Amino acid sequence: MAWFRKERKPRQPRRERLEIPPDTWEKCEACGHTDIRAKFLRSFNVCPACDFHRRLRAWDYAAMLLDEGTVSEESGELRSVDPLGFPEYPARLKRALTNAGDADAIVTVTGLLETLPVGIGIMDFAFMGGSMGSVVGEKIARLGQRSLEKKHPLVIISASGGARMQEGVLSLMQMAKTSAVLSQLAERRIPYISVLTNPTTGGVSASFAMLGDAILAEPGAVIGFAGPRVIKQTLGQDLPEGFQTAEFLLDHGMVDQVVHRRELRPTLSRLLRHMTGRPAAAGHVQES
Ligand SMILES: [Zn+2]
Repeated sequence: MAWFRKERKPRQPRRERLEIPPDTWEKCEACGHTDIRAKFLRSFNVCPACDFHRRLRAWDYAAMLLDEGTVSEESGELRSVDPLGFPEYPARLKRALTNAGDADAIVTVTGLLETLPVGIGIMDFAFMGGSMGSVVGEKIARLGQRSLEKKHPLVIISASGGARMQEGVLSLMQMAKTSAVLSQLAERRIPYISVLTNPTTGGVSASFAMLGDAILAEPGAVIGFAGPRVIKQTLGQDLPEGFQTAEFLLDHGMVDQVVHRRELRPTLSRLLRHMTGRPAAAGHVQES
């Protein structure tokens, strides 16, 4: 009765499976649109379907804003220490260094923005939620000091959950420290532009992020000091819909302009030239 028994052969796949690396596709968190990664990158990580501004890493901002080959990092050697002996902090720092790859939650660079020399500080949310500790404060202070010496305008792009809890009061001191250097810039009439990205909250929004001579924000960015629940509990009032967004703050005079990411470079260039009285360089004819 052997012919009743079916011989079982392992099934061969008809075609070779195509090896698609898992990071080829990207999905928009806002609308679910899925597209090839290259397409997201070409539009500076703005969703091609719904215009949602996804997070951009610090070095990508530097490459987007500054002229090719002019970017140079400042104070890249600074590292956070564990001044309070906070439980797990050294391990968390080590993890952040491995995962985010940057020295801390801000990268400070100098370079040319459409041939205009500038200093730019770019916060990186990927490094411990863009939290501000001693290193973030010190890097901003040093970049500001450099701006004072060279008389170069300063730009800071913020993305932060607030002060770094693990450094306690030392984190809170950075609010005063960064504000102090910015007031010196204001006295000498050296322009400082603040760019708020999603999210800009806590101690960062309560210090340098809101002290710009001009304050720009990316569309849809969440901007605020405390979370909505805390405010509601404190005030005992209902809060208006979307009151912590860039657009709401623009309507209420807290932000000067909401700027699409693709317009950020020309907008900064135009503003800084206007503020410094330096005309546009040859070969950099400005659109619009
Ligand atoms: Zn989308």
